[in-house]
Amino acid sequence: MKIFCVGRNYADHAKELDNLAETEEPIIFLKPRSALLARNVPFHYPPFTNELHYECEIALRINKNGKYIQEKYAHKYYDAISVGIDFTARDLQNELKNKGLPWEKAKAFDGSAAIGTWVEIPPDKILQKSINFSLLKNKKVVQKGDTADMIFSFNKIIANISNYFSINIGDFVFTGTPAGVGECLVGDTLEAFIEDERLLSIEIK
Ligand code: ZN
Repeated sequence: MKIFCVGRNYADHAKELDNLAETEEPIIFLKPRSALLARNVPFHYPPFTNELHYECEIALRINKNGKYIQEKYAHKYYDAISVGIDFTARDLQNELKNKGLPWEKAKAFDGSAAIGTWVEIPPDKILQKSINFSLLKNKKVVQKGDTADMIFSFNKIIANISNYFSINIGDFVFTGTPAGVGECLVGDTLEAFIEDERLLSIEIK
């Protein structure tokens, strides 16, 4: 099992991190199985960072093996949607980026991928283009996103990933974060929603 993540998929977020160059292909990175935060457990603040960021993202659950998937068939490869948090050690990521080194230590560490309750997509249903999601920190809205603002759609992402990697049943895809990423501290509570349904709640310890 692996977790695919998309970087800079919302223009307003790419701007806030000063990543202005537009890309023709989505930026893809991976998190291993050990990055998945188990359900209903707190997130423990890692000792190697002083700037832990949340990134709230729509997550997809892969339910079919595939490679070289065409965009028009990509919707057949995921059967559930949820909201997740791509935890990022931003200080470490900036340090690695500046040195031109890989991001994994800052992005793929244990517990860095939290995923909420899955909402099944009925087999005959195509998801609407506009899905609202949001993140609350200590009951205050800090991020709001709409999938209509994604640079690369769910199906474009799946098609592109599958040109490089086999996708397998049980894999997950994080589809990128909108503007509003920010710091979380020990004692904070994060709650993530799709529309007005709360699918994820995490305490930072
Ligand atoms: Zn992210």
